[in-house]
Amino acid sequence: LTREGFSTVPDVSWDDVGGLGHLRSELNNYIVRPIKYPDMYEKFGKTLETGFLLYGPPGCGKTLVAKAVANEAGANFIHIKGPELLNKYVGESERAIRTLFQRARTSSPCVIFFDEVDALTGRRGREGDHLVVGGLLNQFLTELHGGDRRDVYVIGATNRLDVIDPAFLRPGRFGNLVYVPLPNADDRVSILKSIANKRPLDPSVDLDAIANKYCEGFSGADLANLMDKAIHVAVKEKFQSIESSEDGDMDFSDCTIKMTHFKQAL
Ligand code: ATP
Repeated sequence: LTREGFSTVPDVSWDDVGGLGHLRSELNNYIVRPIKYPDMYEKFGKTLETGFLLYGPPGCGKTLVAKAVANEAGANFIHIKGPELLNKYVGESERAIRTLFQRARTSSPCVIFFDEVDALTGRRGREGDHLVVGGLLNQFLTELHGGDRRDVYVIGATNRLDVIDPAFLRPGRFGNLVYVPLPNADDRVSILKSIANKRPLDPSVDLDAIANKYCEGFSGADLANLMDKAIHVAVKEKFQSIESSEDGDMDFSDCTIKMTHFKQAL
């Protein structure tokens, strides 16, 4: 496994996530609460620990949400991408899957975020890949379904639900299938607010107007990119004003992001 296989508690919190309220509540119930309140779940009796499969267009918060869940639960987080596990040597990929789950168990409570999970399905790929992928899929399903998965939670993500093997979607595997859509106008405002959180926004900035008038069809990643661009415009302007001033004073206390910066960034 690569560097990304290391586990730590992520620093992304729910405050960093805009919209997606329904998903948040589901993930709280299925993952955060069982980790935080094991006594209550002892009382109710064991449930089948079933994973989530998030699907939808890129850049809409799947990774972010998985990190926020781990953070909220105080759990370790392992980020792995399906294609990283594909190895041309027969058996190597299965071993990588076993190692992944072993590592998760030793650092439990642990959330495994499995991005591009579609890479594990046998339906895609060339003829020669078929054997390797088939074995890998079986190993994955075994780990997912069988054995002791206590306090190891799996959140898968894909942009390609159409190629996902239906075997993935049974209860106890990725039993919860959730669509993560492009944000609507209200979500866009909420995402912009979460991205603007702790940044020096000038009161002239009208996030509602930006979200409604200029950002139709934007993903969360597009909105984050817009914020970055507005900051670069503001930085450029700040330095132009410093360079043209008499004293060249490097005083950054009045740095703000203004509506004009957003307009130029759009
Ligand atoms: P992919 O399918 O490409 O992996 P993804 O759905 O996992 O995409 P993220 O990686 O979570 O998307 O989002 C990329 C970036 O876009 C985030 O780091 C964040 O800056 C911004 N972003 C996306 N969605 C949201 C959201 N709902 N709230 C706040 N920021 C968001």
